[in-house]
Amino acid sequence: MTTPSVLDFAALTELATASERVSIDCACIATPTDGWQTLPLSMPVAQLREVGTLVTGDEDEPSFAEYHPDGTRYWAAEAPIAPRYFPYNRCSVSECTVCGRCYLRYTEGGGYFVDQRIRLLKASLLADAAL
Ligand SMILES: [Zn+2]
Repeated sequence: MTTPSVLDFAALTELATASERVSIDCACIATPTDGWQTLPLSMPVAQLREVGTLVTGDEDEPSFAEYHPDGTRYWAAEAPIAPRYFPYNRCSVSECTVCGRCYLRYTEGGGYFVDQRIRLLKASLLADAAL
């Protein structure tokens, strides 16, 4: 198994733009994931393929700072997607092999509390913000 490639902002934008153009119906959009969601039971994970990661490995532990310049919150559908900020700095990017939509995924918590989370990757929400 090869290590997933780190996606820079340009590569992420390209994936997000292509993903946003997809308009066909698909099982992966049965439950909306415009904001972060616990991986829905309806999500056909078998048809998600990892295409890259936002984990740069530059620091021992990625920042827990969140990026909300417009007063959004973590769960908001309008919350910006800023790759250097939590939780995007822990995310992998997966593509639905059926429709081509792209998703951000990471595992929240640790120990007794582990939650797989997923959010649709949207070009309009991307923010190339420095920490
Ligand atoms: Zn799909």
